[in-house]
Parts: sequence; structure tokens; C-alpha cells
Amino acid sequence: TSTLYIVATPIGNLRDISLRALDILAAVDVVAAEDTRTTARLLAHYSIAKKMMALHQHNERAMAEKVVNFLAQGKSIALVTDAGTPGISDPGSALVSLVRDQGYKVTPIPGANAAICALSASGITMPHFLFYGFLPVNSGPRKRELEALKPLPYTLVFYEAPHRILGCVADLAEVLGMHRQLIIARELTKLFETLHRCVLHDAPAWLQADANHQKGEFVLLVSGAEIRTEEKVSDQARRTLALLLEDLP
Ligand code: SAM
Repeated sequence: TSTLYIVATPIGNLRDISLRALDILAAVDVVAAEDTRTTARLLAHYSIAKKMMALHQHNERAMAEKVVNFLAQGKSIALVTDAGTPGISDPGSALVSLVRDQGYKVTPIPGANAAICALSASGITMPHFLFYGFLPVNSGPRKRELEALKPLPYTLVFYEAPHRILGCVADLAEVLGMHRQLIIARELTKLFETLHRCVLHDAPAWLQADANHQKGEFVLLVSGAEIRTEEKVSDQARRTLALLLEDLP
């Protein structure tokens, strides 16, 4: 009782939901959902009938007060979004922050996440990655943010919408360089799931080769900046400095 559960739901395949998530959804008093129609389909699939309330980007703060009122009455609530893990490029963080401020318990119920799903099957061997989520919609600001990411030696993980995928990939190539590895992870866990690996230079051609390549939902993984062999450079610099110092009077 008096707990807010943050429940991950599938990113496509409806069976990608944990047994514990189903238990919690069946047990709570209310389900707060980003889109109640989407969540109604999921709940119906598992024969769960539940009172729902809409909590999305535009009413999150106002609805958070309602959630706190429910919790004050000893009720338990599950927060779900349309797909994947709430709070990850999705609403939820502001609600969790308020509920924590009020001293109520918040319990995560882990499950699907598109970024981790893509990374797991990418074959990228870099140990570190940076989850960026969505880049700006317009090319100017997008390129500015990419400039800031350019020197980082981490795999970069982006989310992108189908109608922006081509423009986004073009900017990635322009700013980060043509030779970086790219993995286009499309429609994960769904019928037309595709994980295509290429270098940034070849990505626009692949996207344009078939109209279907630009359809659906996308995660983009871009290999990080090559780590420069700073050690070697500085060793050499040290030796040069030592030689110069020898010649000083
Ligand atoms: N909270 C979600 C998560 O945990 O991954 C992400 C929500 S965000 C609003 C939606 C974006 O996630 C999509 O635009 C797409 O970039 C990515 N995404 C979600 N489902 C996907 C899938 N099945 N295949 C590829 N990308 C997906």
C-alpha cells in the first residue's frame, strides 16, 4: 500500500513483460498511463481490468498531485508509458521526484528498454556507452549538440522518429565523420525487426534503398571517438623536453 510502482512494459512484442509486472498491474488500485488506450490493449491482452488515469508530458505535474492524494489514502499506483521503461525519454521523472519529496515509496519494476535492447545485440565491444535519447528536431541545434558529443570515447545511443531518420543520419555523418560505425536498430521485437550495421557514410544510401528502411521506430548506435594515444604523445614530449633542458646553461 501507498507505493508508486514504475512498471516497464513491452517495446513491441506484448510478451516482453515480466511476471512481476503483471502481478503488480493486477494488484494496484490505479494504473497511471501515458496513453490509456495503448495501456488498455496491454491490460486486455492479459485479462487485467483496472481503473486508469492519463498521465502524460502535458499534465504530469498536475496529475502528480492526484497521485500523491491516492498515496495519502493508502492506495498503490502503477505508472506505465506507451512502451518500455517510464522516465527514460518518457514521462515519469517529475512524478517520481514529487512522490519521493512527499516521503512515499517508489519501487521500480524493470523490463524492456529500446536502448539496452539495441545495445545487447549490437556487437559493439566498447565497454562504455552514453544514452542520449532524442536529439533536437532541427538540424542547426542538432549539429551543435553533436559537436559537443564528438570527442567522447563512448558509444552514442540515440532515439529517432521515422520522418527525421534521414536528416538525423546525414547530420551524424557530417559532424561525427563518415567512418564511424553505425547500427540502425529498427522495430525491435516486432515483425520487421532490423539491425543494420554500416559506416555513417553508407547510411543514407541504405535508408533510401528501400522505403521500408525508413519506417517504424529507431535506435541509432554510433561508435565513440577513437581514444588518442595520449601516453605516446606525452612520452615523446617528455623526451624532447629532457633533451632541450640538457642544452640549457
Ligand atoms: N521509454 C522507452 C524506452 O524505455 O525505451 C522509450 C520511449 S521514447 C518516447 C520512444 C522511442 O524509443 C522511439 O521513438 C524509438 O526511438 C525508441 N523505440 C521504442 N520502441 C522501439 C522499438 N521497438 N524499436 C526501436 N526503437 C524503439
